[in-house]
Amino acid sequence: MIEIENLHKHYDSAQGRVEVLKGINLSVESGSITAVVGPSGAGKSTLSHCISLLEKPSSGQILIDGKNLTNLSGKKLRAERRAIGTIFQNSALLRRMTVAENIALPLRNLGVVHEEMTSRVAELLERVGLLDRANSYPGQLSGGQRQRVGIARALALRPRLLLSDESTSGLDPESTQQVLTLLESLRTDLGLAIILITHEMDVVRHVADNVAQLDGGRIAEYGKLH
Ligand code: ADP
Ligand code: ADP
Repeated sequence: MIEIENLHKHYDSAQGRVEVLKGINLSVESGSITAVVGPSGAGKSTLSHCISLLEKPSSGQILIDGKNLTNLSGKKLRAERRAIGTIFQNSALLRRMTVAENIALPLRNLGVVHEEMTSRVAELLERVGLLDRANSYPGQLSGGQRQRVGIARALALRPRLLLSDESTSGLDPESTQQVLTLLESLRTDLGLAIILITHEMDVVRHVADNVAQLDGGRIAEYGKLH
């Protein structure tokens, strides 16, 4: 379970202080999908970067399974970041590496031994339905397939939370549906907590258990969908 408690983020500039997040409270249980929706400028990217521990909040905290992830640095921060898998809008795959090599990257960086890496990658490819594309390059795949590779890579280190940052933006409706169906199966099969950050309300209507409407740095509305 992930708990976001009274999260604030501001930037100081020559024009003065800009308050972007003004006290966000949100919990997402394991095995559930919460969508964070909101118009441009609402603070979605900033919230996403705080959750993925790329940016430090000004105050407040983020806990995963009771463990406080704020105020960590160095080795501890890198270790705890593994609990969070992130998928991005453009899938962010390396063009000169095959699908299998892209998925193996987080495991390689961690020093996982060869045999274990090979079997983990095969397992991940199977989970996202791309076993037959192991040796393809990203440029040979459709957008939806690339995004599924991005999901496999995000799962490589067995995260507790999967954060999707506009991951279906720019995909056609069929590929979007494939990605959402996959996310639903990950929620159910792996018991992952999933946060879907998106400006596309239609996307979340079908898969999200809860929706938080972000507006002006605050959660203006929160509700259950199913
Ligand atoms: P969204 O993703 O919902 O469009 P953002 O998180 O990108 O929203 O931005 C929310 C607000 O925070 C915007 O008004 C933006 O200009 C401001 N903002 C974001 N990053 C910075 C920054 N580094 N410095 C100053 N203001 C920022
Ligand atoms: P999807 O199955 O995600 O809907 P598409 O309909 O775009 O994919 O593509 C159908 C098939 O064509 C897929 O198996 C995909 O791998 C392949 N394909 C798509 N684009 C390319 C490409 N540029 N080069 C090689 N194969 C491609």
